[in-house]
Amino acid sequence: MGQDVEKSVILAVDDEPAVLSAVARDLRREYGKQYRVLRADSGTTALESVRRLKLRNKPVALFLVDQRMPGMSGVEFLEQAIELFPAAKRVLLTAYADTEAAIRAINEVGLDYYLMKPWDPPEEHLYPVLTDLLDDWQGQFSPPFEGIRVVGHRWSAQSHQVKDFLSRNLVPYQWLDIEIDEEAHHLLEFSNADGSQLPLVLFPDGPPLPQPTNVQIAEKLGLRMHPGLAFYDLVIVGAGPAGLAAAVYGASEGLSTLLIEREAPGGQAGTSSRIENYLGFPIGLSGGDLTRRAVAQVSRFGAEILTPLEATGIRTQDSYRFVALTDGSEVSCHALLIATGASYRKLDLPGIERLTGAGVYYGAAITEALACRDKDVFIVGGGNSAGQAAMYLSKYASSVTILVRGESLATSMSQYLIAQIEAQENIAVWIRSRVVEAKGSTSLEVIIIADVVTGDVRTVPAYALFIFIGAMPHTDWVADVLKRDSQGFILTGPDLLRDGRRPRGWNLDRAPYLLETSVPGVFAAGDVRQRSVKRVASAVGEGSMAVQFVHQYLSRVPE
Ligand SMILES: Cc1cc2nc3c(=O)[nH]c(=O)nc-3n(C[C@H](O)[C@H](O)[C@H](O)COP(=O)(O)OP(=O)(O)OC[C@H]3O[C@@H](n4cnc5c(N)ncnc54)[C@H](O)[C@@H]3O)c2cc1C
Repeated sequence: MGQDVEKSVILAVDDEPAVLSAVARDLRREYGKQYRVLRADSGTTALESVRRLKLRNKPVALFLVDQRMPGMSGVEFLEQAIELFPAAKRVLLTAYADTEAAIRAINEVGLDYYLMKPWDPPEEHLYPVLTDLLDDWQGQFSPPFEGIRVVGHRWSAQSHQVKDFLSRNLVPYQWLDIEIDEEAHHLLEFSNADGSQLPLVLFPDGPPLPQPTNVQIAEKLGLRMHPGLAFYDLVIVGAGPAGLAAAVYGASEGLSTLLIEREAPGGQAGTSSRIENYLGFPIGLSGGDLTRRAVAQVSRFGAEILTPLEATGIRTQDSYRFVALTDGSEVSCHALLIATGASYRKLDLPGIERLTGAGVYYGAAITEALACRDKDVFIVGGGNSAGQAAMYLSKYASSVTILVRGESLATSMSQYLIAQIEAQENIAVWIRSRVVEAKGSTSLEVIIIADVVTGDVRTVPAYALFIFIGAMPHTDWVADVLKRDSQGFILTGPDLLRDGRRPRGWNLDRAPYLLETSVPGVFAAGDVRQRSVKRVASAVGEGSMAVQFVHQYLSRVPE
């Protein structure tokens, strides 16, 4: 394959083997450096090649086709081929007796030229014509999208999940909506898939994947999902800001460090459209940008990142800590950091669950913003994340309405965001308002909103509803081992002491370190921790600090 992967294609079609070899040889000699020359010995095999090229998004610059072939004539082939590559130049190879057919083809298939066989010497009869056509083609040519393409339904939760997974892993992709995009239909047909198998994910190489899981996509993308070692000094679960910071400090300070992430590095911060209060970035930076930089830094120091891979439990044995993984394996370490963060609480109301992914979204403002162009969208929640989402969506949507239960945003949102929202003409804030129901057949159509004081309800058309309400920690998987508060946040350090007494089962002659949990050698940092500040900077700070406690712990751990 090599360089050919990048090249546009010239396809020669002729049923006579000697002629086909000669034409392919002449084409390669003159154009082989710039184009990939393919050949086919019939119209039918040529059409198969054309479909394959379409599936892989490889452009065809020129069809050079014999008119007189059994089964399918050159013109018949071109009729079908140009539907898929309408910009390709078309040249017929004809014998004297085909002249009339060739002239008709000028109108029927927009033939650019017909060449009489034989074309010798090519310098005189072949290259001048083709070079001229190829130059013309180059002039009009805009290179196709080289990456991954996703074909699916706009209102499918599964399509949303695939798009979200790709964008959160910072993988560029092209979205093709089966309802409005003709190209999407061609791709579905050539993949031998049917409409019930969407979303379909197409890669520049290899077969398309119908309805892939995140793990299947990750395998195809070459994301790493298996640890390189059986044992690490430090294992970190969760690659949000806290986990990423801990990985940078752990690896840069000589600890063999493994980071395990179940979705995509970046955590909640990775979904943020603009973080404006992070030190050192006076005009703010996007969560994607912060994540990209952090992942590069982690890798540079040699920590391993496994994603998507979920930790499902922990256990201890002597001085070893074990993390169970979804693939059934375990990885062991001396010190373990839980940095699994939190995510938005679910809104448990009629219609919400059914329409999640089909107009109702948790977070996800970045992934869906483009689709909201010129539409009316609503946001539930009054925190900074809701405010940022409103600002971001207001660039696309015709109106953005923030629904808050209270009397104002002042108690829950930073002043700088409130000022931005007030200055943005297409954002409205409806106070004393709560959603009571979402309705729509295949996607969200209306939401019903109640006044929390009077109870009056009104029904408003809504294209999308973005939910940003209270955090819920990801700690179910450690519930039977670590002490948590009533909401599930992990207790650490002084919060574990009751009347100065250490937690039950604590068998060391020292109190738990500041970020240490009820199990020695197991630490927690970031949003997952009780009373944490729930900010990017504080998560980064805690992740970095945790490594200092890991060093102190390791200095006394028996080998
Ligand atoms: C939209 C949005 C905008 C925000 N804007 C700002 C802002 O402008 N400024 C600011 O300071 N803060 C902001 N925040 C808050 C900030 O992002 C969080 O406080 C911060 O991300 C917390 O970091 P963390 O590492 O503790 O956890 P998280 O960011 O929640 O990361 C935890 C990670 O752990 C992974 N995980 C969970 N369970 C498992 C498991 N069992 N196995 C493996 N992996 C697991 C998750 O997938 C996730 O990637 C925003 C939050 C959101 C959602």
